[in-house]
Amino acid sequence: MSRIFEIIEKDAAGRIGRLKTPHGIVETPTVMPVINPNLRIIDPSEMREFGAEILITNSYIIYSKPELKEKALQNGLHELIGFDGPIMTDSGSFQLSVYGDVNVENHEIIAFEQAIGTDIGVPLDIPTGPDVRYEQAADELKTTNERLTEARRLVEERRNKAAGNVAAGLEKIRGDDMLLAGPIQGSTHLDLRAKSAAFVSGLDFDVCPIGAVVPLMESYRYEELVNVIAAVKKNLDPTVPVHLFGAGHPMMFALAVALGCDLFDSAAYALYAKGGRYITENGTYQADRLKYLPCTCPVCSVNTAESLQKAANKEELLARHNLYVTFQEIRRIKQAIHDGKLMELVELRCHSHPQMMGALSALYQHSEWLETCDPAVKSTFFECSAESGKRPEVLRYSKRLERLTLFGNVLIRPQKYHKSGLKDSDFDSILYFKPPFGAYPSEMDENYPFNAEIQNTPSIGSLETALSNTIELIRLNPDAKFTFVKGKRAFDSVVFSELEKVCAVISGNEKTEYGDAENENAENEVPGNEEADNENAEF
Ligand SMILES: [Zn+2]
Repeated sequence: MSRIFEIIEKDAAGRIGRLKTPHGIVETPTVMPVINPNLRIIDPSEMREFGAEILITNSYIIYSKPELKEKALQNGLHELIGFDGPIMTDSGSFQLSVYGDVNVENHEIIAFEQAIGTDIGVPLDIPTGPDVRYEQAADELKTTNERLTEARRLVEERRNKAAGNVAAGLEKIRGDDMLLAGPIQGSTHLDLRAKSAAFVSGLDFDVCPIGAVVPLMESYRYEELVNVIAAVKKNLDPTVPVHLFGAGHPMMFALAVALGCDLFDSAAYALYAKGGRYITENGTYQADRLKYLPCTCPVCSVNTAESLQKAANKEELLARHNLYVTFQEIRRIKQAIHDGKLMELVELRCHSHPQMMGALSALYQHSEWLETCDPAVKSTFFECSAESGKRPEVLRYSKRLERLTLFGNVLIRPQKYHKSGLKDSDFDSILYFKPPFGAYPSEMDENYPFNAEIQNTPSIGSLETALSNTIELIRLNPDAKFTFVKGKRAFDSVVFSELEKVCAVISGNEKTEYGDAENENAENEVPGNEEADNENAEF
């Protein structure tokens, strides 16, 4: 159980949390803008205006440059950077992944991070990129775990010493209360990622970064990214905040949050700006190819695409725009969690790119696990894609079918229909049929998730899920006699012929909240007015 992270609201595996650091509380999910100690395109003192609550910089760069090192040791990291809120520091692992070697030992960088007053320090882990041979990835993970164990011990010793000092009335030493991150490695080998997560959980780290995933994101391998995150999360203490190291593009934030990531870091705002790239929540544009600016941030509100392209400070303007849209997406995600609408946002974002669609399919391969994290009651379920039938809420209903006990004559029908020649009063129970859920008791129609807004013409996947659930419900209740009223649309599914084997099927004329399925000019029903619906139905 985390002592510094409080989870306030949840949706899917996503959460709004409060992370307590030595320099204040941070609301998650959030992005940490990366500050290069040598080069500042936007001054850190301005970062709060964009929405930043915490920054990240690199302790190895500071350690390696004598003038920065001296200033940091003398005045502390926060004065060096010029930001009085929480600051996380990376350890040199990134340099290790790029240059293959660094000139510092694990215990030295931990001691340095503490000495300069870092809020969240990172040990010198070995970043093992994707597609590395299994034996090598396992070897490197072993080294990473040894270093994490050492870091955990060093930080614990210093915390205990500090507690002793406080008890003896001595002055507090800078860095005594540093939080420690325990990076998770293992390349694209999911069993190694799972082992790494279990190991890190056992050592009680304050924050768990998922490392070395940048190459997956750079090459749009989002499906594999989903599987890596899921392998980690399923084996990690769920109360610990998770940092998706190197993830800074807003297009994939909602997806990663739905999988349970709480922290991101963005060097992208500056790096993309340097390359003339304009970030949006749906993808990236080359700024020079834009004819219009699809954004209302303070930069885009006072510029045209042309004036932005010609501006002398184009790079800075692009960096500012990139940061604004980055934090706008974070706020949108937090509101979606608050509203119980995170999955709708994830589906929307995943339609931005074919590889993101693959990621959505991969996400729903983990619905069984997502369902264990997802709140049972939310606001209205919106069927936003053909994939919605694979959402955890639908899976949950299929697992709960055995709770429904039915006897006598049972009618399964669309909520609104007529011309079937049947009377509800002739049946012991009435069930409504609604894709992607299937048949459910009519009394639950106003309850979540059966109050779902669904497509008039269900996708084949959604219909088949509903039919499979209905067949299962009939099989679970062998003493009841079922009659199924079939709407006229989209029933040419192979699963439907299975339903015909287990119950009587008659044709009805389904009506929707938006009109008659058969006749566009038919009189509309009043949504939710069941009495009126039944009276008007032509039995
Ligand atoms: Zn903008």
